[in-house]
Amino acid sequence: MRMSEHLNCCAEPALEVMKLLYAKSHDSEDVSRCTSCGARWFHRWHERMKSDGGADSMIDWYTRITDEECRILVSAKQRPDLSFLGLTKRAAICIDEDGAREVSGQPGYPWG
Ligand SMILES: [Zn+2]
Repeated sequence: MRMSEHLNCCAEPALEVMKLLYAKSHDSEDVSRCTSCGARWFHRWHERMKSDGGADSMIDWYTRITDEECRILVSAKQRPDLSFLGLTKRAAICIDEDGAREVSGQPGYPWG
C-alpha cells in the first residue's frame, strides 16, 4: 500500500494496486484503488535516466478514473486503449523531484 499525500480523492489517500497493466525496469502502469474512499486511479511510473551520469529521477502520474473505466482496464486481456488519459484530455497529477503539480494529461506510451 502506498500513501500519497498528493492525491486529492479524500483526506487520507492510500492506494493499493488492483491490476498491474505493464511493468519494466524503468516504467510501470497500474490501476489502483484508494482504500480510504474507494476512488480509482490510473498510475504511471517512469524512471528517467540521466545521460550525463547524474542521479536518475522518478516521475509518477496519477489520473482519476471512473468505476466504469476501471472495470474496462482491469478486465482487459491485452494492453487497453489508454488514449483517453493523454495530454490535454484529462487533468492528471504529476509528481517528481520538483514536487506535485496538476498537468493536462499523461504522456503516451512508449516514452521514447
Ligand atoms: Zn481516497
